[in-house]
Amino acid sequence: MPSEHLDVLIVGAGLSGIGAAHHLQQRSPGKSYAILEARSETGGTWDLFRYPGIRSDSDMHTLGYNFRPWTNAKAIADGPSILEYVRDTAREGGIDSKIRLNHRVVGAEWSSADRAWTIEAERTDTGETVALTCGFLFMCSGYYRYDEGYTPTFPGLENFRGEVVHPQHWPADLDYAGKRVVVIGSGATAMTLVPAMARDAAKVTMLQRSPTYVVSMPGEDAIANRLRAILPARVAYAIVRWKNVTMQSISYRLSRKRPGLMKKLLRRGLVRELPEGYDVDKHFKPLYNPWDQRLCLVPDADLFRVLADGSAEIATDTIKSFTERGIALDSGAELEADVVITATGLNVLFLGGARIRIDGEEPELAKAMTYKGMMLSDFPNLAFTLGYTNASWTLKADLVAEYVCRLLNHMEVGGYDVCVPRISDPSVTEEPLLDFNSGYVLRALEGLPKQGSKEPWKLRQSYPFDLRAMRFGPLEDGTMQFSRRAAAAEPVAAATVSAA
Ligand SMILES: Cc1cc2nc3c(=O)[nH]c(=O)nc-3n(C[C@H](O)[C@H](O)[C@H](O)COP(=O)(O)OP(=O)(O)OC[C@H]3O[C@@H](n4cnc5c(N)ncnc54)[C@H](O)[C@@H]3O)c2cc1C
Repeated sequence: MPSEHLDVLIVGAGLSGIGAAHHLQQRSPGKSYAILEARSETGGTWDLFRYPGIRSDSDMHTLGYNFRPWTNAKAIADGPSILEYVRDTAREGGIDSKIRLNHRVVGAEWSSADRAWTIEAERTDTGETVALTCGFLFMCSGYYRYDEGYTPTFPGLENFRGEVVHPQHWPADLDYAGKRVVVIGSGATAMTLVPAMARDAAKVTMLQRSPTYVVSMPGEDAIANRLRAILPARVAYAIVRWKNVTMQSISYRLSRKRPGLMKKLLRRGLVRELPEGYDVDKHFKPLYNPWDQRLCLVPDADLFRVLADGSAEIATDTIKSFTERGIALDSGAELEADVVITATGLNVLFLGGARIRIDGEEPELAKAMTYKGMMLSDFPNLAFTLGYTNASWTLKADLVAEYVCRLLNHMEVGGYDVCVPRISDPSVTEEPLLDFNSGYVLRALEGLPKQGSKEPWKLRQSYPFDLRAMRFGPLEDGTMQFSRRAAAAEPVAAATVSAA
């Protein structure tokens, strides 16, 4: 048995893990905890990605924590500013001292007899294995693999004489000044890279198989900046946060209910921003409805400006093969390139790739159902953070952390040491976890847990709904089962996961 025991173990020192630690310190101050972080740095996504122009694609008034106002004038912020904000939160809250870097959690085993998780972590610096136990396991490990981005198989890639770079592994010394660059992809990363690289490259071509919905927003929020000048930062932040939540919610609902109208509005915006005669439909008219995939936001029309001044262009075409000089397209055209950037996405990874065992059994994640989008059926004392697909990640991350604290406090008061969501309603049916057809989601869906057809198993992509349910909803809801040591005899993994 390991000698160290913690009340709570947080996995991951990114935006979510550091936010979770803050909530824990504020709301459940007696609990001992640590954060195990696989990398040698904190900040997660905002430290890993180093490509030119790296920025948020949602506003910082909702990507920021609910407890820490974002006071920078820029609402769409650059990566280094977001990293600084996350690290300042850790420093000022004393969270830094609880973070153990270079600890990759590779296994977690629940014991019903001990009513605790035994955690196995690999030291990424020394290769040692470290073990400890904890009462509650809080996975804030993000949603994708850090070691490898997604690159499809491209025919003839080996023939290409130039350089090929994935944005997840950006070489610090990559020199593209005066060179011809092709960026493959049409997601947020490609939309960020194209204007940023167009400043120095000879020419940048964004090569996309199919278009994405794109909307331009001011990089600075004038209302936020004005309010901050006359109101205390916290008050101004709260107002702007709700303004943005409301606007985002209206835009999402309108997209789902009246996709035709939303398409027209988006197209009108593009026609206004792009040069006269630009083939808007060829390059910016997707085959799917708005919000079937994440809508791309560009600050201050930066993408449209480089398309207008000719330093960048879009090719909507498919790749036949790489050649020595560049990329041959199915249309017969060839794009010459010195550098090719494969902005082709991420590999989804759930629970940080840790091997989970419950009383000696390895439960199949794909057979579990998500409870409130933050716990799993029949997984005791375990929560995870998974942000919204249609709004800023942190809106959900804050709510999940608050809910975990409510649970811990409730267990403390009631003398419980185990909480586990169980499916008791046979009419609940399985649905895919995410109703989203982005490539990275479709590639991963099969191995992910499911959501249920009804509350509390349904994953609502709605902050106002979750706010009510998670901040004020009852903890004893008939689905979450609490127990104390005296009553514990039978193993927790026995119940079956229903797919009625
Ligand atoms: C380029 C890019 C831009 C994005 N922009 C936005 C945006 O504008 N708005 C938005 O809402 N979302 C955005 N996202 C999603 C983004 O990931 C989240 O907003 C947020 O950063 C997630 O924070 P996190 O802490 O949950 O995960 P991460 O930032 O991924 O951090 C997870 C941490 O956990 C650690 N970890 C993982 N597994 C283990 C393990 N087994 N053991 C120990 N440590 C582990 C990792 O090393 C990492 O430090 C973006 C994502 C990317 C890739």
